[in-house]
Amino acid sequence: MTRMAPKLPVYMDNHATTQVDPRVLDAMLPYFTEKFGNAASRNHEFGWKAEEAVENARGQIARLINASPREIIFTSGATESDNLALKGVAEFHRAKGNHIITQATEHKAILDVCKRLQESGCEVTYLPVASDGRIHLDGLRRAITPKTILISIMYANNEIGVVQPIAEIGKIAKQAGVLFHTDAVQAIGKISVDVERDGIDLLSISAHKLYGPKGVGALYVRRKNPRAQLAPMIDGGGHERGLRSGTLNVPGIVGLGKACEICAKEMADESSRLAALRDKLKDAILSRLEDTTINGSLDHRLPNNLNLSFAGVEGDALLMGINDVAVSSGSACTSATLEPSHVLSALGVPEELAHSSIRFGLGRFNTPEDVDYVAARVVETVKRLRELSPLYEAAKSRAPQT
Ligand SMILES: *Cc1c(COP(=O)(O)O)cnc(C)c1O
Repeated sequence: MTRMAPKLPVYMDNHATTQVDPRVLDAMLPYFTEKFGNAASRNHEFGWKAEEAVENARGQIARLINASPREIIFTSGATESDNLALKGVAEFHRAKGNHIITQATEHKAILDVCKRLQESGCEVTYLPVASDGRIHLDGLRRAITPKTILISIMYANNEIGVVQPIAEIGKIAKQAGVLFHTDAVQAIGKISVDVERDGIDLLSISAHKLYGPKGVGALYVRRKNPRAQLAPMIDGGGHERGLRSGTLNVPGIVGLGKACEICAKEMADESSRLAALRDKLKDAILSRLEDTTINGSLDHRLPNNLNLSFAGVEGDALLMGINDVAVSSGSACTSATLEPSHVLSALGVPEELAHSSIRFGLGRFNTPEDVDYVAARVVETVKRLRELSPLYEAAKSRAPQT
């Protein structure tokens, strides 16, 4: 087989961050130089230009998720948006209740906030997920109590790409009169997200996961049916309808807006192209390697995600073996120990297999040549590592021969 050589190293870690699209950078640049005004300066041209750019971005973001521009609050990123949504609702609705429902495979920007809220008197239910990574809707219904003030379930997972039944969750929340927040960082710009169709009250966005710059994001806050009310976490000047004070990051906001505009136009084509590349990668690896399993549902999945476990291979050894390919392993370095991913653990993936897993995240700038190269590197490296692994050889000889 002859292969075109891709540009090395190959970047296939687009769930961690994405390259800024050149069109996004072009849109941002004037706001560092001649259009440097403060969007809160009401008395001159510099301020007006900046404010106009911010309002334009608000519209671009709102259009992508079927919201109204006034429902978009700018933040420093999705970690801040998640903090504002959960802590802000917990504080505002303290008199009504103190119970929050979330689920086991959330990002740390949700789980760590929940831990903090538990320390200050909140009760948190962590719903389990099925082996395909999706929550059970009956479990959600049963978890709701008169004290429940918020349901926070991510749209799509950042490790396994599994998409939750968001519209169904939105219906359940509405029937129960409970606010519904979703961390939609990985879904925005990849699949259709519609706050009306999906019954979402609060939604977190990050620019750097959709080909925009780092350090800027947004929180969608529903204004009617129902009005989502929350307390601010940062005071000082009353920017963003009082929900998030601080001088706006105008170039970053312009970049987030432009990134959303591009996604709105190109998402349908891009997603089918990426799904085809992802399937090509999956087939090229699975057809040449045995004892390789897919983590998470294939049917309810982002088009750009593949997460595989390679029995008998340490994920980190595999990462080192393919050091001209940027992907992530299913282990997280917490202090001194190597912990298996909490997401894979929640799916019931055994610890050994979780440590042997790799996340592939395809993106706008990947090519078919990248996919051929990555598949070939993974296959040859897994084979080599397995030959060196006495454990794998022993397991093979014990396995029933077919
Ligand atoms: C990256 C990510 C975040 C954090 O976003 P930042 O803008 O980097 O703070 C939160 N949730 C999910 C699902 C993510 O993938």
